[in-house]
Amino acid sequence: MKGGDESLRIGIPRALLYYYYAPFWKPFFEELGVEVVISDETNKGIVNRGVREAVSEICVPIKIFIGHSLNLLRKGVDYIFVPRMVSISPLEFFCPKFMGLPDMLRHGVNKLEDKILTCQIQSMDDDISDYRLYLPLADILGVTEEQMKESAAKAREEWLAFRMYSKMGHTIPEALNLVENIPISKRKEASHPAIKIGVLGYVYNIYDSFVSMDVIEKLRDLQVSFITFDMLEEQDLKNEIQDIRKPLFWTFTNKLLGAGYRFFSNREVDGVIHITAFGCGPDSMLSKLFEIRSNETGVPFMMIRVDEHTGENHLQTRIEAFVDMLKRKKRVG
Ligand code: SF4
Repeated sequence: MKGGDESLRIGIPRALLYYYYAPFWKPFFEELGVEVVISDETNKGIVNRGVREAVSEICVPIKIFIGHSLNLLRKGVDYIFVPRMVSISPLEFFCPKFMGLPDMLRHGVNKLEDKILTCQIQSMDDDISDYRLYLPLADILGVTEEQMKESAAKAREEWLAFRMYSKMGHTIPEALNLVENIPISKRKEASHPAIKIGVLGYVYNIYDSFVSMDVIEKLRDLQVSFITFDMLEEQDLKNEIQDIRKPLFWTFTNKLLGAGYRFFSNREVDGVIHITAFGCGPDSMLSKLFEIRSNETGVPFMMIRVDEHTGENHLQTRIEAFVDMLKRKKRVG
């Protein structure tokens, strides 16, 4: 389906929820006939530009998002798509930084005032493909309601396929490639499948290889297997926390909490690593809850906090030491 303004170039920052919703947003805009431009992979220049433009007290992922938006500006896009993510679950919300993101960019970052393309995302579940959410963009894109409806239906299929690949155990970069029919490189098989680690962290921290310093590859190099929250069913994550007295307010934080509680309680993993970014408010709570659960269950836990200056060697050493301890504990290796 085409029909939109073909001269329009819409940028999607390769940051934050790009790692969860790009398989919907990208085909949706493309189906509408506009050109979609994705920012470059995170690199030092992108991080530095984001850090320079952002207020200093904001979390690292938001600084990086700003860097990606400026990268798109350099690529000459007409608009940068920054949806206002409000809620994808009844009585839960996105972290307030997501809700304020379009305003933060519009009013806080030089040269972005007129570049932000936004709409409000509020749905009952993870599926945000209801075309009505995107109707406020119709005039700018030069499309009709009917065109939006058809494009959203097609893009939804890609997103569902992406989620299916994740739940089959693929990492998000692998699932992103698979929906685009890009072959994924053959994985190194873990020679110590007896050791499995639950890796907890927001998709934009774990799967941005610059931010996480490729923690996933490091684990693969150490020949251990791993599981992340996005590989689990949403309902299972919800079930894990249904009995707690007070769930957290923030949806993705609750997803991590559900995954963490499952990892700690059902002995599916030998240890848990939580990757958190400097300046994250919700995670300060989450890490504490994981620590308590680790003490109660005896499942080893390590928290790794990354910031814009974290050194790779330091991370490598900590992960190696953690894996070594798990192997000794289990008497393998
Ligand atoms: S959840 Fe944490 S890392 Fe993510 S945007 Fe909010 S404060 Fe930043």
